[in-house]
Amino acid sequence: MSEKYLVINGGSSSLKFSLYGMPNEEMIAKGYIEKIGTEDSFWNIKYNGENISGARYLKDHSDAVKVMVSELIKNKIINDMNEIKGIGHRVLHGGEIYSESVKINDKVLNDIVGLTNLGPLHHPGEVAGIKAMQECLPNTIQVAVFDTAFHQTMTRENYIYAVPYEWYTKYKVRRYGFHGTSHKYITNVMQDKLGKSDVNLIICHVGSGASITCIKNGKSLDTSMGLTPLDGLVMGTRSGSIDPSIIKFIVDETGISLDVVMQELNKNSGLKGICGKNDFRDVISLVYEGDSLAKLAYDIFMDSIIKHIAEYYFELDGNVDAVIFTAGVLENNTELREKIVNKLSGPMGVILDKKTNDNIGYGHDEKMGLITNIESRVPIYVVPTDEEVMIVREIG
Ligand code: ADP
Repeated sequence: MSEKYLVINGGSSSLKFSLYGMPNEEMIAKGYIEKIGTEDSFWNIKYNGENISGARYLKDHSDAVKVMVSELIKNKIINDMNEIKGIGHRVLHGGEIYSESVKINDKVLNDIVGLTNLGPLHHPGEVAGIKAMQECLPNTIQVAVFDTAFHQTMTRENYIYAVPYEWYTKYKVRRYGFHGTSHKYITNVMQDKLGKSDVNLIICHVGSGASITCIKNGKSLDTSMGLTPLDGLVMGTRSGSIDPSIIKFIVDETGISLDVVMQELNKNSGLKGICGKNDFRDVISLVYEGDSLAKLAYDIFMDSIIKHIAEYYFELDGNVDAVIFTAGVLENNTELREKIVNKLSGPMGVILDKKTNDNIGYGHDEKMGLITNIESRVPIYVVPTDEEVMIVREIG
């Protein structure tokens, strides 16, 4: 009988989970429980193509875990909880403490709680998820997989901000980078594909959140997200890098609080800030209808991707084994990929293979592949990311 591993993603009022069969890394079931702590708590589990759903008041994450377990057993997805041999928890921030995944013990849990100032929106829910699983399965190995860990190899030149140095020494203000699990997964896929470990890559993870990482010799050298995921590229709802003076300027001009400004930069900026839509598919629909702000948002979004690729191309002295397009937007949207590749064709000598590009992504059988032709100086690949499989691998 195959062993089963659980991947847990705890949110402030939600718990997402996936059950994997090992060693084949087969996803058996996937589910979510939402609105924990309210009268409207509900859940859904996808298993064998069917949806198992329910609703009742769930007081806290511990209640949520109990529901998850009873549904898994009731629907014969597992026979009993002891079948679960390992649990991987997605954790946003490992600060400077964790450069790799770690087995959770009291110290690790205390560290995660202590890093709440760096992940105030995520850590409380993640800690609640860990505690609830520990209560339910006290003897099962639980591993914390940090979104920041893969980027701990960045050089000081790349992670120190040019602000008073004391902000770093006293308060740990620095670039940390995120989406590390995805960037690591893609790096591993490319190491296998290219048959060497010391790969130089530019990985463009562009979904609702977006970050680009510069990989040198198989390690993260630089990345676009910073102290928080707000930095770097223009995203669905996040501004990406802006002049920090804008924040005080808007507070002074409008009288809104700092918290509200930060909320605006995280939730109502990016594509949404410019054209009112954050889902890239909606933005494209508006562009086709002739909406000029949607076209502006599209162009600014695309430019921010191109500028980061160009920056990292120079950072690697042009020694780039491959550029990779991944996550929701770049895995699926052929037109945006085509425009980016064409824009890079002069400076980077990349040449699109239009036919292949047009056949990868949503609505096509192919989900991955090389989208440049053999004469291209730098190959560009589309590779679907899989953060959950990466978490499962980190457990074992
Ligand atoms: P996250 O994991 O950050 O929530 P994803 O990687 O799932 O994000 O990407 C989600 C985004 O991908 C959506 O907001 C949507 O804009 C975009 N997307 C998904 N499918 C397509 C598609 N067929 N064409 C264009 N964009 C798409």
